[in-house]
Amino acid sequence: MALEFDERGRARENEYFRRKEVELLAKMKAKLESGDSAPTELDCPKCEGKLHETNFENITIDVCNRCHGVWLDAGELAQVTQRDEGGWIGRIFG
Ligand SMILES: [Zn+2]
Repeated sequence: MALEFDERGRARENEYFRRKEVELLAKMKAKLESGDSAPTELDCPKCEGKLHETNFENITIDVCNRCHGVWLDAGELAQVTQRDEGGWIGRIFG
């Protein structure tokens, strides 16, 4: 994959995503604490889209309806990589 950013640009980008991730986690936490059992609809950390849970080979993944980004939590990622190392996930994240 071609590098689109210089070091400074990339650092800024990482900081942006890290902040978005913190916001997202805070939202998830608030939702859990509120005891709301309704299906979660989270904002995409990357764009204005919404994440929809999708089942992929018995693993729940979150797919953005706008940029089609795929988001997993750490546990989900571990399940996927254990199942299929260097397979489809390599194609997505490679
Ligand atoms: Zn998105």
